Amino acid sequence: MLVTVVAGARPNFMKISPIIKAIKAARRDGRAIDYRLVHTGQHFDQKMSGEFFEQLGIPQPDINLECGGGTQAEQTAAVMIAFERELIANRPDIVIVVGDVTSTLACTISAKKLCVPVAHVEAGIRSGDMTMPEEINRIVTDSICDHFFTTTIHAGNLLKENGVDQDRIHFVGNTMIDSLYQNLDRLTQPRFWDERRLSSGDYFLLTLHRPSNVDDSTKLLEFLNAILDGTEGHKIVFPVHPRTRKTLETARFESERLIQVDPVGYLEFIYLLKNCRAVITDSGGITEEATVLNVPCMTLRDSTERPETIEIGTNELVGADPQNLAPYLTKLAKGGWKRGSIPELWDGKTAERIVKVLLREYGTHDLNLNRTVAKKVSVVS
Ligand code: UDP
Repeated sequence: MLVTVVAGARPNFMKISPIIKAIKAARRDGRAIDYRLVHTGQHFDQKMSGEFFEQLGIPQPDINLECGGGTQAEQTAAVMIAFERELIANRPDIVIVVGDVTSTLACTISAKKLCVPVAHVEAGIRSGDMTMPEEINRIVTDSICDHFFTTTIHAGNLLKENGVDQDRIHFVGNTMIDSLYQNLDRLTQPRFWDERRLSSGDYFLLTLHRPSNVDDSTKLLEFLNAILDGTEGHKIVFPVHPRTRKTLETARFESERLIQVDPVGYLEFIYLLKNCRAVITDSGGITEEATVLNVPCMTLRDSTERPETIEIGTNELVGADPQNLAPYLTKLAKGGWKRGSIPELWDGKTAERIVKVLLREYGTHDLNLNRTVAKKVSVVS
């Protein structure tokens, strides 16, 4: 069987890396499975893409669709057109999409319109916040895909409530956490560590990139001021997302304690996360990594699609109002932060489980036969 694996943006790369490793391992064991890696080009520069391929040992993509930039609709359309061409030229038995980025949605639509089955990794999670482009991507992807690989029982239950048959829901765990475990003994101290006199347990880590938090400079500066007010005596390491950089360039916010750096590579970021006092973020994936590493995490959003990070993890939903932050920082300073535990099946073996399911469902498809069929397929009009 041939599996086309899609990746487009930063949070996809740590999710596909273990899947590709597991496919390669199954192939080494003599199973008839191969993959084709498609990079849509949604994130394209070295800091948001190239570095992750190098650090996570992801092979060079078989094709880069070079669909970076543009509005939501422009990018969705560009990826759909380019991915349709790719599927016609190299028809797989199944497409794997991960997460909730524009490429996830666009590639799912193109594949389904060509009657190619799609498996969604990280299916069934919902924030309930329809102002997030990611929520729309999740809902549309899950409404038309064929197989649902879920990170929690909660996500599976939500899919069942939405009418998805139990036999298409596969509770496998979290491939992002596979990557975390695979790289824990390879972490790298960032180059600025000594220069900025950082020491373990003494600094906060900050990431912000949700449009609702960073596009308006007044809101962004209110957040930075609230964070600085509540963290006196501590440095704040702030790898600045390109979207946030745009706003900060006009706002020109400076503080000696706020260490603004470019986005850092995965191995450096996890090093920073593992050693920080707490992480303040509006990311989804980082709340999962903080939970597994038992690092206090404050989420600057009103909702989360990952409730397990709050219910049993180290995450607290602070909200999108900068004024909310102070009591949480006080709680941390008093040593009162909860200890978390690790959600079920977040054990580093998720990608193996995914490949087992794929082999069970599509394992009888012969690789060479599939490639012959691919040449005969034309566009459905
Ligand atoms: N990350 C990274 N470098 C950074 C910031 C984040 O490697 O400077 C990693 C982080 O460890 C996690 C992923 O990027 O694995 C999360 O991506 P992001 O916050 O962009 O996306 P989200 O999870 O919110 O969709």
